[in-house]
This record gives sequence, structure tokens and C-alpha cells, in this order.
Amino acid sequence: MPKKIYSELDKKIKNPLVKEVWESKIKQKPSKNKHISYSSLSTYGKCPKLWEMMYLRKQVPFTQNIYTCFGTAFHETMQEWLEILYYDKVKNANSMDLDALLYKNMVKSYKSGKAQNGHEHFSSEKELMEFWLDGKHILEFLKKKRGGYFSTKTMKLAGIETLLYQEIKPGIMFKGLVDLVFYHPNSDRWSIVDIKTSTSGWRDNQKKNPNLTAQVILYREFFAKQFGIDKDKIDVEFFIVKRRVPKDAEFASMQKRVQQFSPASGPRKTKQVLESMNNFIADVVGADGQFIDKEYKCVNPFGKCEHCSQYL
Ligand SMILES: [Zn+2]
Repeated sequence: MPKKIYSELDKKIKNPLVKEVWESKIKQKPSKNKHISYSSLSTYGKCPKLWEMMYLRKQVPFTQNIYTCFGTAFHETMQEWLEILYYDKVKNANSMDLDALLYKNMVKSYKSGKAQNGHEHFSSEKELMEFWLDGKHILEFLKKKRGGYFSTKTMKLAGIETLLYQEIKPGIMFKGLVDLVFYHPNSDRWSIVDIKTSTSGWRDNQKKNPNLTAQVILYREFFAKQFGIDKDKIDVEFFIVKRRVPKDAEFASMQKRVQQFSPASGPRKTKQVLESMNNFIADVVGADGQFIDKEYKCVNPFGKCEHCSQYL
């Protein structure tokens, strides 16, 4: 992220609320509080045993793979491009060499992943090149269709990696980073966007997976609270980019490299998501504000499921 332009950028943000959102990423302070993240909650949703091993006992190190490496690099590339687009000049964004930027970000992400991985390789040159080429196709598509997704006339970029940090109950904080936040001045609406890199898009089983869709619904809840914005003015969206599209697709829509998906997020759905978060906290946090040290049970009555079995 090109930090150097932030100071000049301050002057360009006129809406005080947009400014507050934009600056929230630098307000993070270390804290003794317990942090609850969406990934912690979703891990528990998959399997409490897996959650125990990852978040309570910390027995499962976070392992890097080509998907996480590409995902990180692609996020950074898109965010750097959008920052130039909205806060520098459209012309400069258009002339950016996004392929080279993605390459640079992939190398950086691979190196740090390899260090985390005990300096063991987790991919090959061939595979990295394959993912980079896929990424090039996505970036080419984004540049070509940019106006349809990211209008500089009707949208303001209000946040990149916006930090959400809100108390759920005393001593328990929700912590999340929103990939992109946009403000739409004409309609006075906001959108919270989470970027997902995928192989060929989300199908019904992903779109209907409450464990996945909960992410943006929680983000909306805490974003509204943190910035004092009416929840009804906030839209949520997954911006899913596809590494693969069918060559001879029957419909033009199938050849799109981008799938925008807004999950159902009405009051009933939101209530369910908040209930499941509260149940999770009641299950894992004790009266002393610490995680309860006990044996958590796998979702499968036989004690092993697809999520936890590889670590047991
Ligand atoms: Zn399990």
C-alpha cells in the first residue's frame, strides 16, 4: 500500500464521515481484550474441535498455500489500483502496470508465506506462473470493465482494510478488517465489500452457506455501530473474482471474471447471525473473560469430521 500519499489524501476527503472511515485503519491499539474475529466464529461453526485446536490450544499453525498466497497478492493489487484511481488520477490508474504489481505482490506474499511455513516451499514455479497468468486475465477484465464496477462519478472510496473494533460485551471485542468501503453520495448509501478470489466463482452451496455469508452481515452490524450509520443505509457484497471462465460459454455472463453477490441480510437473517455469534461467545468465553479450557466436541457424533480429522 503506498502510504506516502495519505497525507495529501486527507485534504481530498471532504465528507467528515468518509474521512472518519478512511482513517479508522490507523486507530488500532494493542489491547488485553479478547478478540473475536469472523474467522474464529466460522471455524467454530465448522467444528468446535477444530476451533479448540486452532484458537484455544494454538496447535494448528496457519499454513500457507497457493490459494492464500494468490489471494493476499490479488487483494493488495486491487486495493493499490483503487487507491490510485480514487485518490490520484484516473489516468494514472489506467497506466499502472497491474500485471507487474501482481507479480511483485505474489513474490512478496510467497516469501512471507514460506518464512511462516518453516522456510519450506509450498508451491512450484509452474503453479505460481499459472496463478499469475489467471490473475492477469482478471486484472485485464477489471481494467476494461472498470466503469461498471468502480465509478469515480457516483462512488467514493471510503476505506481500504477498514478496521472494525467494537465491544460485543465487556472485555470481548469484535475485530474485523473490511476490504473495501464505498460511499454513494447521490443516494447517501454505503457499501461494504469483501473481495474473494475463487477458481470459477461461487455456486449455490457457497451462496447458501450461512457460515460464509455471516461475514459481511457481521461487518455491517459493527460498521454501523462504529461510525453511527443507519444499518438500512449499508449494503453488503462479495466481490468474487474467478481465475477460470469457460472458453465457449453459452452466455456472456459466464465469461465474466467478476461475480457480485449480496447475500440476504434482512432483519431476520441478521438476527440469526448475531444469535450464532452470541451462542459462540457463551460457549467459549467464561465469566473471567477467558476462553474456557475444556474439551470441545466435534460436530460429528463419531468424533471426527472433514475439518478436524487431519489434525487429530
Ligand atoms: Zn470435527
